[in-house]
Amino acid sequence: MVETKRDERRARTARKAGPERTCAGCGQHAAPDELVRVVLDPSSGELAVDLAAGGFGRGSWVHPSAPCVTKAIKGGFAKSFKAKVSVEPQAFGEALVRAADRRIEGLLGGARRGKFVAVGTDAVKDAIVQRKAELVVVATDAAAAARQRDVEDAIAQGKAIAWNEKVRLGALFGRDEVAVCAVLHPGLAEAIQGVFRASRPFTQSAGSVSAWWSREVR
Ligand SMILES: [Zn+2]
Repeated sequence: MVETKRDERRARTARKAGPERTCAGCGQHAAPDELVRVVLDPSSGELAVDLAAGGFGRGSWVHPSAPCVTKAIKGGFAKSFKAKVSVEPQAFGEALVRAADRRIEGLLGGARRGKFVAVGTDAVKDAIVQRKAELVVVATDAAAAARQRDVEDAIAQGKAIAWNEKVRLGALFGRDEVAVCAVLHPGLAEAIQGVFRASRPFTQSAGSVSAWWSREVR
């Protein structure tokens, strides 16, 4: 619950805040929810991805895209932190995907604790029919669940994401396997989708981080 309230507050602040941030890659201004916050550990010169945008330390912002990340690593981050920054683009992409997975797990945990989640095919169907499903999360290895008509509708409406595997989704809800769940809370659904969107450029192509690297970055 605590997490839920905090996330809600953050989501509200992010929407209201208005002050735009500058992407350390392309240099364009953008709303905070279109960018990813990065913090620097001054002692090691290492970057950490701060998807909750509440971490300590000086932050820099970047579009979650391979070209912007690459440019930022080549100089934008160093300029914005006024410090030497050492990170490989591929390692940064991997860190972003790990941070996104952790963040989505945390948000789903918040949804579970607040009882803002429907777990399993039947519960999800009911939630969709009752128009309570704000976001449907389908495990990437749950093809059968993704083919259910209600779930297909949610996918067509952009209200579904394919994330993680049945076993790992199950672990979040204390079950052996969960093929599909639905988030019933608008703020949490929005936060999950935002994080998912940010990590997607780096997970596309069969979930391989090196794929975006070889495709996008030369
Ligand atoms: Zn950019």
